[in-house]
Amino acid sequence: PMKQRLLVVANRLPVSAVRRGEDSWSLDISAGGLVSALLGVRDVDAKWIGWAGVNVPDEVGQRALTKALAEKRCIPVFLDEEIVHQYYNGYCNNILWPLFHYLGLPQEDRLATTRSFQSQFDAYKRANQMFADVVNEHYEEGDVVWCHDYHLMFLPKCLKDFNGKMKVGWFLHTPFPSSEIHRTLPSRSELLKSVLAADLVGFHTYDYARHFVSACTRILGLEGTPEGVEDQGKLTRVAAFPIGIDSDRFKRALELPAVKVHINELTQRFAGRKVMLGVDRLDMIKGIPQKILAFEKFLEENPEWRDKVVLLQIAVPTRTDVPEYQKLTSQVHEIVGRINGRFGTLTAVPIHHLDRSLDFHALCALYAVTDVALVTSLRDGMNLVSYEFVACQGAKKGVLILSEFAGAAQSLGAGALLVNPWNVTEVAKSIGYALNMPSDEREKRHRHNYAHVTTHTAQDWAETFVSELNDTVVEAQLRT
Ligand code: UDP
Repeated sequence: PMKQRLLVVANRLPVSAVRRGEDSWSLDISAGGLVSALLGVRDVDAKWIGWAGVNVPDEVGQRALTKALAEKRCIPVFLDEEIVHQYYNGYCNNILWPLFHYLGLPQEDRLATTRSFQSQFDAYKRANQMFADVVNEHYEEGDVVWCHDYHLMFLPKCLKDFNGKMKVGWFLHTPFPSSEIHRTLPSRSELLKSVLAADLVGFHTYDYARHFVSACTRILGLEGTPEGVEDQGKLTRVAAFPIGIDSDRFKRALELPAVKVHINELTQRFAGRKVMLGVDRLDMIKGIPQKILAFEKFLEENPEWRDKVVLLQIAVPTRTDVPEYQKLTSQVHEIVGRINGRFGTLTAVPIHHLDRSLDFHALCALYAVTDVALVTSLRDGMNLVSYEFVACQGAKKGVLILSEFAGAAQSLGAGALLVNPWNVTEVAKSIGYALNMPSDEREKRHRHNYAHVTTHTAQDWAETFVSELNDTVVEAQLRT
């Protein structure tokens, strides 16, 4: 039988493209979990549609890039610099991202924000229409179209306006905030209505789905049912689809000789000390200062641990051109410097802070040698780092300290120590509890998490969403 075609639409294609000449490009496909999940869905032929992350003003370059990408099953959407500025940096990253993570709307200059708000929202809609145009051009009857994330909330409506029969799903990778937060957004109604044009709307957790449904009932006055949202007899299915990781990929990596060598090196390097680990993009939502302050409090109150524990914090740079992020970076550096000055010795410091990313194998080795992982997100859609840590702990069975404000708390709550990252006293206590935890409790907790992470994989997630979308469309046809 013919495989069903799946068009995955996301802001960014999973490739980085570097121009080598007028009509030549070199492509590097990113091997993340989402890519292998979506390309690995059984009985489905997936193609990716999105922006390649580069400005290509000339037609020769565009044609060459389109051709090169086609070999990787990718189709580009070309956005010029102005629209990227207004749509991506502006509306997506300065308005939707902070709002969905409960950081509020920008406030420095309310009037300026209010004025640029409208032009940014217009650019957002225009950009979404450009994605829709590319989808429409490649769409064939029977295809499933899966739209991803807060960048493309307008896309379901654009697609359905073009062809009401298209099977359209939309999934949000961030939290969806309480309706009281969403209410503050000037474009609150228009965004909700365009998402509702989809057949199936998915979130990581039941709470986010519930927030979305109550935003639709309170702001749009629509009827919310256990199934979803109803508008004049038309039902939009709303449900939770918690994402997972490709856990086998991590387990396989740990078997590689090079990774084993690395694990040995790290073990020797930190012999005699317990290793605590944080891995985060350096973003406000990750609660990095809160985490480090809690670690300081722990050292303060437990002098016997000062030379027996080390915190390795990998802080992956992100949006480094934005002043707020630069401020966060220097704030973190200042705190780390103070603590290392206070508790360091001539031969050792308590915190190793790295402002850079690691390659996949180095990251796996680090996960494997860690005794306690510390995730203190103030808000986080899911947090895959917590899943990856668990997947790499088959031998060590270390402890996960996890923020209750990460989506992952809903699935790893039974095995992790859940904390409120704002409560530094509580986090400091949990650090002590984790470091002293007897091995039988550690094993029991690890077993819970490991069973979850290895059975709820990214591939299952993608398959469930796609089959649910197909079912939803069939049910809707039966109703009419
Ligand atoms: N990651 C990476 N290189 C690094 C550190 C992290 O590729 O040096 C990856 C990590 O493996 C994980 C992702 O970045 O898959 C972070 O995902 P998460 O859901 O934890 O947070 P996000 O950055 O999406 O907010």
